[in-house]
Amino acid sequence: MLVDAHGRKIDYLRVSVTERCNFRCVYCMNEKPFVWVPHNNILSYEEMFLFIKQVIDGGVNKIRITGGEPLVRPDIDCFIKMIRDYKADVDIALTTNGYLLGDLAQQLSVAGLKRVNVSLDSLKRDVVYKMSKMDALERVLEGIDQAQRYFMRVKINTVPLRGVNDDEILDIFDYAKRRNIMVRFIEYMENNFADKYIKGLSSHEIQRIISAKYTFKEIEKNHTSPAQLFELQDGYIFGIIAPHRHDFCESCNRIRLTAEGFLIPCLYFDEALSIKEALRVGDMKKTDEILREVLKNKPKENRWREEGENEVSSRAFYQSGG
Ligand code: SAM
Ligand code: SF4
Repeated sequence: MLVDAHGRKIDYLRVSVTERCNFRCVYCMNEKPFVWVPHNNILSYEEMFLFIKQVIDGGVNKIRITGGEPLVRPDIDCFIKMIRDYKADVDIALTTNGYLLGDLAQQLSVAGLKRVNVSLDSLKRDVVYKMSKMDALERVLEGIDQAQRYFMRVKINTVPLRGVNDDEILDIFDYAKRRNIMVRFIEYMENNFADKYIKGLSSHEIQRIISAKYTFKEIEKNHTSPAQLFELQDGYIFGIIAPHRHDFCESCNRIRLTAEGFLIPCLYFDEALSIKEALRVGDMKKTDEILREVLKNKPKENRWREEGENEVSSRAFYQSGG
């Protein structure tokens, strides 16, 4: 079993398979990086898989494939199948901006993917363009339709920004509710790679907007999920991910592997250790040692909770995988 220095059981690995992306979201990769990491610095699927087998054997039972945009990396379905074939009952999920999902949903489901989260920040074509610099709305909605056809569980992630898409919170809510998809609103996490003029909404502000139309109550959250959960009178459940909350990190059960081979203990902090060289020579004793070191140094809390929007992380979401 993997446990960090604060006694938190670590059973969830997020794997960022690429830092590249076809979108330029204002809150994540507002501008194209000056240079992309060269391909030979990126772990191959086989290298990632060596580590994945090791952590599965150590008790990890949930793996989320993310990025950058995971669907821009070729053969992502083969990677998913490798994991599925190693251990059929590992919960494999994927987070995507949805642009390529309509084309790939069937392949991904054949490979064994069961759960997908799709990011949807607006139902207006021009706002989607403004937020992602891609004329993407139609394809993303088609991606969500196909996801509902092929996957057991689909969720929508939305990052509300003040004066940009906060007037659409109820519209997105209703869109998801009509389809019986859980929507999760994510508080914007301030970081150096975002547009510096954007501002997010707090969990309370989001709740206030939804309460103008619906009555709901907070329900017990799944212990390891970061989302606060709320239930409407008719049983529909939605979530809010509020990293600025004081108790957000208490049940953190995750570590992150980046495409370049860094193990990241916390989304907020810069600290990370590389397992790339060890993986490249197949030294799994070394990767285990590095993993233990990362778990030992996993911080108790992020720092967004302290100062809210005055705290800015220097970690790029498109590298860490969010
Ligand atoms: N490209 C995929 C996507 O957008 O869904 C996966 C990677 S993205 C980094 C993962 C999630 O992080 C997305 O739901 C995105 O909305 C969220 N995200 C990115 N930057 C964020 C930020 N600064 N604050 C809050 N959420 C963020
Ligand atoms: Fe790309 Fe996802 Fe970041 Fe948007 S949030 S720029 S889609 S990685």
